[in-house]
Amino acid sequence: MNSKIKNIWKKFNFLRSLKARIFIIVFLIGIIPSIILTYGILENYEDRAISLRTSDMQNQLNIIANHLITYNYLSDTSSEVISAELEQLSNLYDGRVMIINSGLKVIKDTYGTSEGKTVITEAVIKCMKEGAGGSDYDYEYGYIEITTPIIETAVAGTVAGNGIPADIEKKKDIVRGVMLTSVSTESINTTLDILSRRALLLEILMLLAIFAIALVLSNALMKPFERVAKAISEVKEGYKDEPISVPDYLETEHIVDAFNQLQNRMRVLDTSRQEFVANVSHELKTPITSVKVLADSLLAQEDVPAELYREFMVDIAEEIEREDKIINDLLSMVKMNRTVATMNISVVDVNALTEIILKRLRPIARKRDIEVVFESRRAVTAEADEVKLTLVITNLVENAIKYNKEQGWVKVVLDADHQFFTLEIMDSGIGIPEDSLEHIYERFYRVDKSHSREIGGTGLGLAITRNAVLMHRGSIKVSSTEGEGSTFTVKIPLNYVMT
Ligand code: ADP
Repeated sequence: MNSKIKNIWKKFNFLRSLKARIFIIVFLIGIIPSIILTYGILENYEDRAISLRTSDMQNQLNIIANHLITYNYLSDTSSEVISAELEQLSNLYDGRVMIINSGLKVIKDTYGTSEGKTVITEAVIKCMKEGAGGSDYDYEYGYIEITTPIIETAVAGTVAGNGIPADIEKKKDIVRGVMLTSVSTESINTTLDILSRRALLLEILMLLAIFAIALVLSNALMKPFERVAKAISEVKEGYKDEPISVPDYLETEHIVDAFNQLQNRMRVLDTSRQEFVANVSHELKTPITSVKVLADSLLAQEDVPAELYREFMVDIAEEIEREDKIINDLLSMVKMNRTVATMNISVVDVNALTEIILKRLRPIARKRDIEVVFESRRAVTAEADEVKLTLVITNLVENAIKYNKEQGWVKVVLDADHQFFTLEIMDSGIGIPEDSLEHIYERFYRVDKSHSREIGGTGLGLAITRNAVLMHRGSIKVSSTEGEGSTFTVKIPLNYVMT
């Protein structure tokens, strides 16, 4: 059942096109009013022609009705004048006049077929009773039926000057009979037919014109959108250096602007991806090259003393360890990127967490006689991803130890207000040059490559740290003076904000 509807809908798939819709709208807007107008005018013409014909007839019939009384036609139908008048009327209007007396008997029929018969139609009886004429139009057979009362005024001179019969009751008007007239409306219908045919012809012409206009308009209006689609599909084959431009409409301009921005962003992403791949390959290759050089030089010599073997093997092991560290950092970075949506939020005791991390790192610091101090200004519990928060604190404190001087110090300060907690990691180390400050969060960026390499840096630590902080909707800032030390400040909301 559902698939049936889908199939039907598929047939009307063209309706989803904006061009088709514009075409249909323009076409309908053009054609509907013209149809309404034509039929409105024709209908109006018919009504008007009928009512004109009716009132025309009624006037004439009233005059004849008066003559009927004057010539006493109801008692004696031999009057030549009246016969001529009736003949003329029925010829002129292609109609039939019947004169019915108060006994509802037909005393005159211009067709001559119903004389002597009794007529008891509702209209005739009503006219006889009320003394007021009426008319009825038969749409189906195309004739008007008019009833006219034949009134004799009992008191002479009681007809009002304006021709309207005076009050019947008072002046004692007596209905002596009724004239029943049928008039054919054929001539009106013929005119209407001619007019309808002409209107139809005009309508067909108009239909063709509107069709053409709708077609041209819908094509012309959609042209800029087609240009946008073409420009975008050209970009598919490769980034264009120049931004695309279709300024015809504000709408196309907006689409194209958005697309250009997207293209720029993709270009940046593409460049950074290429750079990243190049960096990763380079970083992964360096330890392997060292291992190969060490191994080759051992193999090149014969009877190598055992101590030299040992020494070289220690170097090889160090290089492998470095490779392992780079791979681990890369993995945690990739994992972080992939699990953007999956934050493992729990309520974390930040004081306890920091204590544990510092306890683990103190032995490393102690090797270079560096003192690690923790100053907790208040107890902080926050909704956070414990693993990622551990990464943040570990990386920052590790860096503070790594890039420190012998007998230096590292101080970690934890504080909070009602919204955020802040972690400040200060050190008395070598500091970061000002022009490097904006780069330290980039992947593989190291201020001093050889120094960082020596102390086992990969250049990924701060990139991972920043990512983890941002995933908590937090911020990370650094201030540093070369030769004096650095301070990293991390600010994270106490309550995790879902988006
Ligand atoms: P690495 O693995 O090399 O430490 P990071 O991303 O953690 O990589 O840091 C990037 C660079 O920033 C480091 O190579 C170092 O030059 C500089 N840096 C980071 N932390 C500090 C610090 N506390 N003091 C001085 N320099 C630092």
